[in-house]
Amino acid sequence: MHSLAPLPLPTDRAEAGSTDGVDRQRGCLLIRLHNYNALRRLVGASGIREVMHQLAERVGVALPGAMVEPLGRDVVAVEFVSDRAEALSEALAMARRSGAAPMMIDGDTHELDLLLGGAIGAAAGDPTALIEEAEAALAEAQPPGTSPTPRSPVYDQADRSTVDAVDRALDAGHMVLHYQPKLHIRRQAIECVEALVRWQDPERGLVAPIDFIPAIERAQRMERLTLWVIERAIEDQRRLRLAGETVRIFINISGHLLADAHFVRAACERIADAPGAQLGFEVTETSVIRDPEAAIAHLRQFDQIGVRVSIDDYGAGLSSLAYLKQLPACELKIDKLFITQLTSSNRDPLIVRSTIDLAHALDMEVVAEGVETAAALALLSVMGCDMVQGYLISRPVPLAALTTFLAAQRQHPATQDVRASFTRLAAGWKRG
Ligand code: C2E
Ligand code: MG
Ligand code: MG
Repeated sequence: MHSLAPLPLPTDRAEAGSTDGVDRQRGCLLIRLHNYNALRRLVGASGIREVMHQLAERVGVALPGAMVEPLGRDVVAVEFVSDRAEALSEALAMARRSGAAPMMIDGDTHELDLLLGGAIGAAAGDPTALIEEAEAALAEAQPPGTSPTPRSPVYDQADRSTVDAVDRALDAGHMVLHYQPKLHIRRQAIECVEALVRWQDPERGLVAPIDFIPAIERAQRMERLTLWVIERAIEDQRRLRLAGETVRIFINISGHLLADAHFVRAACERIADAPGAQLGFEVTETSVIRDPEAAIAHLRQFDQIGVRVSIDDYGAGLSSLAYLKQLPACELKIDKLFITQLTSSNRDPLIVRSTIDLAHALDMEVVAEGVETAAALALLSVMGCDMVQGYLISRPVPLAALTTFLAAQRQHPATQDVRASFTRLAAGWKRG
């Protein structure tokens, strides 16, 4: 795992502008506790004050150098100055993370639902205008749990900065692919891997996709990055073949691209120019539901040129059996949400078991993602799950490490040492 480097905000709250040749911009973030009323009912007046106090403290720790202050009853305001274009998107990501962990109040834990809005730069000389811009962004922010409206994506100055920064990173060759194997349990073989993009930023180090892909998706600008991933994966697959390794490479395709005829044409051209390429596309059901007619037609087009279709994150988003049946998919990936707690939860094994049966009835193979323990692997094996992917087998790794891993795996299959525990766990699970 890796973490982001601390946000490079000046500690002296320097003024925006330029006195030393460095162009600084003022930024403002507003963080609203969306479930304020519900929480207040649970924890009372003093409890909710404590929640807001702790939230401001967490944000202060996450954004050292920024000025953090309560604003009204349910908002925390953050002011900062930075000379980096990505500062706002980084600050938004850090603030979002600071609300991710549940909060302990009077011995009980409570989840926080945060809405965030921010602005940077444009109104540098006028703090009031900057706060107004941040308020407008906050007013447009989507409540947690609602899916973004595809036709009018809410993206802001921060997203625009991220899109530009990723464009520059692509020009500079700073994007890299890591690969995570999918292990076929019965065959004890790795026949496919998933390509996961990372941004190798000279200043911040390795940046995780969660910190830049959502912004590019909101801006509906995933085409360039995705075509780059396809080209890179084709080239890496050629290198793997030269090293004696044959694996299909699965690539994640964002929802808005599925309905985009221009992208589909460009992707098909890249694949047609690479005879022998063996690719798969991972798509979510939610992305099909946005524009089912176009998405299903395009998925069939991919299927016809030999690209396998996999349903990613099954169970985490919108689901529709009507669409599931129509998709030319050969693989269904159960979201790690149901897998990481598999052996400690009563409900998850039942959900996973029935999902495996459903997928098999639809002639699909099942991949469980997020397999972290031998016990989960054992249980999935007796449930009839076809493939597993997760830290137990391997974290996502660069191409060189993947090549070494694949060679070693053929000699000593990863599941060998946990086989003994299969029967014991199976018996326990069947007894309930
Ligand atoms: P995903 O496609 O569902 O990928 C699985 C994520 O789970 C990866 O995170 C992977 O590192 C992580 N993971 C794998 N095994 C385990 C495990 O055992 N436990 C836990 N807790 N996590 C595990 P990563 O690489 O940070 O990617 C996050 C998401 O970013 C991906 O979710 C995918 O939706 C998106 N993404 C990554 N690369 C691309 C890309 O090239 N294009 C698009 N459109 N999205 C991408
Ligand atoms: Mg995926
Ligand atoms: Mg997934």
